[in-house]
Amino acid sequence: MSYFDRLKKMVSAFLPGAASRGGEPGETDSGGVSGLPNIHVLATGGTIAGGRAEAGAGTVYTAGVLGVEALLAAVPAVRAIANIGNEQIVSVGSQDMDESIWLKLARRVNELLARNDIDGVVITHGTDTLEETAYFLDLTVKSDKPVVLVGAMRPAHAAGTDGPANLFDAIVVASSRDSAARGVLVAMSGNVFEARDVTKVSTTASQAFAAPNFGPLGQVHDGRVIYWRRSERASAHRINFDISGLENLPPVGIVYGHVNAPALLVKTLVEAQYQGIVSAGVGNGNLYYKVLGALADAASRGIAVVRSSRVAAGPTIRGVELDDTRYGFAAAGTLNPQKARVLLQLALTRTRDAGEIQKMFDYC
Ligand code: GLU
Repeated sequence: MSYFDRLKKMVSAFLPGAASRGGEPGETDSGGVSGLPNIHVLATGGTIAGGRAEAGAGTVYTAGVLGVEALLAAVPAVRAIANIGNEQIVSVGSQDMDESIWLKLARRVNELLARNDIDGVVITHGTDTLEETAYFLDLTVKSDKPVVLVGAMRPAHAAGTDGPANLFDAIVVASSRDSAARGVLVAMSGNVFEARDVTKVSTTASQAFAAPNFGPLGQVHDGRVIYWRRSERASAHRINFDISGLENLPPVGIVYGHVNAPALLVKTLVEAQYQGIVSAGVGNGNLYYKVLGALADAASRGIAVVRSSRVAAGPTIRGVELDDTRYGFAAAGTLNPQKARVLLQLALTRTRDAGEIQKMFDYC
């Protein structure tokens, strides 16, 4: 019997019937407890579902090998909080997340949340690109019901794994009426973050997520979520993008700024017919003069250019050391480069006009 089979058997024994309680994809617990919210858990892989073929010491493991039922079986206490449905969307390390999975996930979340018998969705995800998926869903999910992403820094077999605690917290957050209309949320290490600001700030620490500009929205403690503030960006001004007719997203690349940066990378994206380029510039999104020239040329050819910054916090503001209007650029505000890329991809499904794109960055 493999290590995973043994692990599954172990957790199933801990919760009799656990492995069969998830129901068919799209179904919540049949005969769920009335009065409890119905929360649907969508699994995509990641370290939270990570393990290795043989138990032992060390940090080497494979992401996304445990199925959603094994994850849920490790948190039996959630059955007192919500009726849980589950569904495996994909099983990937989130470095392999892609746009086709995003589109599939967003459509599924929209379908589920349109149902009267689903009160919220939790998505398990690898931590590497969790912030990008969260922001993509933030811009494309058409519901005020809670959507909560969650991951783990330590795989299921590791001593002190954070997966079960984080998953428990995420289900608590999704089950709370206070979580409605806050945009897509991320529950990690006792904090609740907004999708727009949250980012991975450590490659290995278990407290790996932070919201560097505005801090967490709230905290989860002892099975209860407490919110301290509400994000203005989750308000009625927010643009919601319709992805129902899309099969892919416009190609947008990121160019990283540094001393002596070459124009080569910008030129390569232009030649490859990318529709947009995000600059991870220095300081307030500033650009080495050769890169500035190449980006100005790209913008003059109709490629959307957005200036963001490689700096971890603070906004990239229009027109400080650089005349964005003259060059036809947009400024990303507090969106980091990888989030600016997500918004630019969606913006390009509507327009190529630099002014219109700037407005979307101002509101989203
Ligand atoms: N690279 C893996 C992923 O993002 C592991 C990182 C994690 O989930 O913590 O899925």
